Amino acid sequence: MTYSPLTNSGGTSQIWVVAACYNEEEAIEHFIERVVAIPKVDRLVLVDDGSRDRTVSRILDWHGKQVDHAIPEKLVLLELTRNFGKESAMLAGLDYAKGNCDAVVLIDSDLQHPPELIDEMVFEWTNGAEIVTAVRDSRDQESLLKITTASWFYKVFNRLVDSIQLTEGAGDYRLLSAPVVNALTEMREFSRFSKGLVPWTGFRSIEVSYKRVNRIGGISSWSPLKLLGYALDGIFSFSVLPLKIWSFLGITVSLISILYALVIILQTIFNGIDVPGYASLIVAVLFLGGVQLIGIGVLGDYIGRVYVDTKARPHYFIRKIHCQD
Ligand code: UDP
Ligand code: MG
Repeated sequence: MTYSPLTNSGGTSQIWVVAACYNEEEAIEHFIERVVAIPKVDRLVLVDDGSRDRTVSRILDWHGKQVDHAIPEKLVLLELTRNFGKESAMLAGLDYAKGNCDAVVLIDSDLQHPPELIDEMVFEWTNGAEIVTAVRDSRDQESLLKITTASWFYKVFNRLVDSIQLTEGAGDYRLLSAPVVNALTEMREFSRFSKGLVPWTGFRSIEVSYKRVNRIGGISSWSPLKLLGYALDGIFSFSVLPLKIWSFLGITVSLISILYALVIILQTIFNGIDVPGYASLIVAVLFLGGVQLIGIGVLGDYIGRVYVDTKARPHYFIRKIHCQD
């Protein structure tokens, strides 16, 4: 496989911004205004991920209102047929951008990622960075529970996974050079975990820091349960250790059982038959039953992933591409 060479040395580089939107009617116009105002941005690709509110009509209204024709031609809207999830929506945007630009900036459309940072990211890219990752410098607006669970997740992930290390605070706000966009669009797995896929490509990344702000409108679509699922997604798609620990656990439990059997035999020889033991029996049965169920659950999770990936369905369908010239 061949990658197109880096083209960030010339003066006519095309920088595209790709943003997924789901129910962002309240902030989307401000977002577009702030992104198209950045001179270095040549095109803004919005991917509507099946919003149930007026996001699409707000975007089209904004486009229709522009009198200065230099600005609206920056905007393209891909309308997906339904909500496919942020990862699929971002992939739709990357597929669209692939081969048409020299670098893509992935950004959230809820204005939690300040678009003004794009200038600094492009600067790092022109200096040779293959990936520029925006790292949030504090989580002070989040609950203690979220901060603690997130930091546990990063510790567990980095301990379990050898191939990559995740940086805490690095999310989906990144600049990707064309070869990285090619690499990412080639990885068509279903449980996409971009936070891991980007470093997994191996391209060199430079970090810039930013302060994340609260949403100016709408609500985050991440419930604690969804976040837990996403965290497990990350670990399961980058590590097979959860599958392997069951053999070790089985061996350990078997060894302990053999030792315990020896103790019982010796006790019977020296003290005669000992009838009581109901409590230890029931504890052992329940404990092992639980352990086995967890083991089967983990197996099921991996098999589910294999099943979904073998179907190889498209990640998304596009209803219409709006505002394309
Ligand atoms: N998003 C999306 N599809 C979804 C959920 C979210 O395209 O199913 C977009 C959303 O519009 C936003 C970004 O993904 O631009 C991040 O979502 P959110 O703000 O809910 O996540 P958080 O910032 O809380 O991590
Ligand atoms: Mg957000």
